[in-house]
Amino acid sequence: MRVVICGGGVIGACTAYFLRRHGVDVIVVERTEVAAAASGKAGGFLARDWCAGTPLDALARRSFALHAQLPEKIAGDWGYRPMTAYSGYVAPDDDAPRTTRSKLDWLSNGVVITQRIGTAATTAIVHPRKFTSGMMNAALANGAELRSGRVTGIVRDADGMKVKGVEVGGDVIDADAVVIAMGPWSLLAAQWMSLPAVYGQRSPSIVYDTGADVAADALFLECESEGGTVSIEVFPRADGSTHVTALSDIAPLPLDPAAVTPDREAIARLQIMCERLSPLFRPDRIIAQQACFRPVTEDGLPLIGLIPQSEGLYVATGHNVWGILNAPATGEALAQLIADGVAREVSLAPFAPGRLAPLDPSLLQAR
Ligand SMILES: Cc1cc2nc3c(=O)[nH]c(=O)nc-3n(C[C@H](O)[C@H](O)[C@H](O)COP(=O)(O)OP(=O)(O)OC[C@H]3O[C@@H](n4cnc5c(N)ncnc54)[C@H](O)[C@@H]3O)c2cc1C
Repeated sequence: MRVVICGGGVIGACTAYFLRRHGVDVIVVERTEVAAAASGKAGGFLARDWCAGTPLDALARRSFALHAQLPEKIAGDWGYRPMTAYSGYVAPDDDAPRTTRSKLDWLSNGVVITQRIGTAATTAIVHPRKFTSGMMNAALANGAELRSGRVTGIVRDADGMKVKGVEVGGDVIDADAVVIAMGPWSLLAAQWMSLPAVYGQRSPSIVYDTGADVAADALFLECESEGGTVSIEVFPRADGSTHVTALSDIAPLPLDPAAVTPDREAIARLQIMCERLSPLFRPDRIIAQQACFRPVTEDGLPLIGLIPQSEGLYVATGHNVWGILNAPATGEALAQLIADGVAREVSLAPFAPGRLAPLDPSLLQAR
């Protein structure tokens, strides 16, 4: 059996890895480079039970456990480390309280920590680009193939039910099954199959070189800014970089993932907020100013599973803010579904693509 995976983000990479463990032949087709989009620019924060009470709970718990196991199973270092998480707020400049915060002393006095919201048992982090590359490299070392190219269509048999391959440029790659894992660009696949809408939500981020000056604590802070209260997320990573993100906006998704750029104004505002958080967030410590698009569906849940009225056609996208967290369990479950006909550890029923109405493809042509 040969499976072609369209997209080399974290979902495509994890699916390739788990399919190879089932002995399935795998070709991943990636148009830009592995982890070129959100999977290379995310925070990488992981939480065991922050999806409790939602249909994502079982997927998130299984994935959190897999994240802890994978560093022992796969060669490579993507900086997996358990961490504490705190919430708090940034006080206005003139009434900044003076508090003793020991290991959080790298923060400015105006940052008030109010609550611990995660412990080393329940929250952790990976470097998302290194994790995605690590999973892809493990799949390649186990016999998967990575091809550079843009998927432009699906080939089916005469009655239109069974998938036969994918079109890449002018060529066809034969396949017994195809997985669409193109993040927000999965939207384009609605031209080729009956697929619910997938949107892209843009978020800017700044990555600082903070070295060993910052403790391994994730911070979720509220900050007053022009136009209201803004939530800022701060993620120090094992390689000495700290990722800060805030100010999501709605922007048109560029057709080419390589053309995603941050809004200059949003980056400037984010930089000002970062400078209020800590004197370590200085311009000369900036490693990257970037943006990426999270894949989002109508009901906020991912699409994982078989496309209705098709044979061999699967989708795995729409993971929104938890794509890095939920990638291993998504890959594991999808590989089981494709190879054995059923996902064993986690039910994929809440994520069935058929639960949402398909996008009218004429709307895509109008875009
Ligand atoms: C600022 C920010 C912070 C985040 N922080 C976290 C976090 O802390 N924790 C967490 O769990 N999640 C986080 N996320 C969410 C997470 O990044 C995403 O959910 C996840 O990366 C989506 O992965 P993906 O593989 O579905 O898509 P993508 O990463 O978008 O990958 C899709 C791939 O498909 C390729 N592609 C597109 N079109 C084609 C084509 N026609 N042919 C071939 N290839 C194609 C693209 O080049 C790309 O490489 C964050 C997201 C953002 C934006």
